[in-house]
Amino acid sequence: MKVSEVMAKLEAKYGHEKEYLQAVREVLESIEEVYNQHPEFEKAKIVERIVEPDRIFTFRVTWVDDAGNVQTNLGYRVQFNSAIGPYKGGLRFHKAVTPSMLKFLGFEQTFKNALTTLPMGGAKGGSDFDPVGKSDAEIMRFCQAFMWELWQCIGPDQDIPAGDVGVGGREIGYMYGMYKKLAREYNTGVLTGKGATWGGSILRPEATGFGALYFTQHVLAKAGKDIKGKKVALSGFGNVAWGAAIKATELGAKVVAISGPDGVCEIAEGITPEMIDYMLVMRASNRNKVQDMADKFPAAAKFTAGKKAWSVKCDIALPCAFQNELNGDDAKELIANGTWCCCEVSNMGCTPEAIHEFQSRGILFAPGKAVNAGGVATSGLEMTQNASHISWSAKEVDDKLHFIMESIHEACVKFGTREDGSVDYVKGANIAGFMKVAQAMLEQGTL
Ligand code: GLU
Repeated sequence: MKVSEVMAKLEAKYGHEKEYLQAVREVLESIEEVYNQHPEFEKAKIVERIVEPDRIFTFRVTWVDDAGNVQTNLGYRVQFNSAIGPYKGGLRFHKAVTPSMLKFLGFEQTFKNALTTLPMGGAKGGSDFDPVGKSDAEIMRFCQAFMWELWQCIGPDQDIPAGDVGVGGREIGYMYGMYKKLAREYNTGVLTGKGATWGGSILRPEATGFGALYFTQHVLAKAGKDIKGKKVALSGFGNVAWGAAIKATELGAKVVAISGPDGVCEIAEGITPEMIDYMLVMRASNRNKVQDMADKFPAAAKFTAGKKAWSVKCDIALPCAFQNELNGDDAKELIANGTWCCCEVSNMGCTPEAIHEFQSRGILFAPGKAVNAGGVATSGLEMTQNASHISWSAKEVDDKLHFIMESIHEACVKFGTREDGSVDYVKGANIAGFMKVAQAMLEQGTL
């Protein structure tokens, strides 16, 4: 297998799908050498098969807004790969959602889920519905209309969606309500990220951020460093950034920045528990403005319009918002300001130029599919609880999450250790995830 040849074919077919091509190239470049040591993979054409989703559902979602106008959006579910388990992955509601975005996310999800140690295949879905400025009633009507179509494609042993950007506990609740009515079954295992009183796992809302900080601790420990007292810059203020802010603060770090599409809030003395709680209020408002934090806490937070979190001096950068949110210039600015670690919490949060910048300058860097896997892993734990009709305590879930993040770190070290003893986490995560899925595909025959 030659990456250049595979990519040339994919570019000819999907030239306009930039994010998808970016994600595929990153994985194939990491695994090329190891893959070519396995002629049985080449014979079974694993690469040609693994880069294509099993199927993509596209559907129209029509709903009525508060003014009585009929609105139409597009809905999608990309069922990417089911070699190691049922399709599993979140739903993204964002105005920029395209099939390319969901294909990249489904592809990443396949290898991320393989890293979790749990039996889950990869999927992603969502809609170009824009939640910004929508009322609660509009969100509910949209979620119901979306599920009206989606419900036929999913099931607890078939495909299990969850949240992602623009989809949190509230949206999962509205979607589950509609699913239950259509399926005429109380099948909680069909969605994860549910409310705690009706099948949701304790700690699932926090899990992506908590897991990311556990992983960051392992990265630092391996490099002989400690998170205590370090300055952390986060992007976003949604569910993921919220969990990361809680755990970073609990571990003794100082969260000195959060950001939004409108700019950055610099928090010189570190984020406080009141400010962390306020992140939830800001998300629920659907205003999508980080300036609201500075308006609420003017003495502690300083808002600068049009700037990213990466303009704030920090030791550790944690992108928690969207793909390609940290580019080559941002990486250079961070490094010039003394940043020595970047753990990607968002999916593909850094551009290839940024990753190159970090890795070539000896900055500790770990990719999203390893760092943020605690979210989907805890979804897997929610599925186990639902299937056995029990619920675990916070300690049980947290212990399992710790174990999973440690296992992912070990897998990265196993496959990514360089000759000088340092770890290439991109290579390690890609090889570990890919080999597991490829082996399962091989064993299941030509499908
Ligand atoms: N959207 C999250 C992710 O990117 C969680 C998916 C899930 O829990 O299924 O991994």
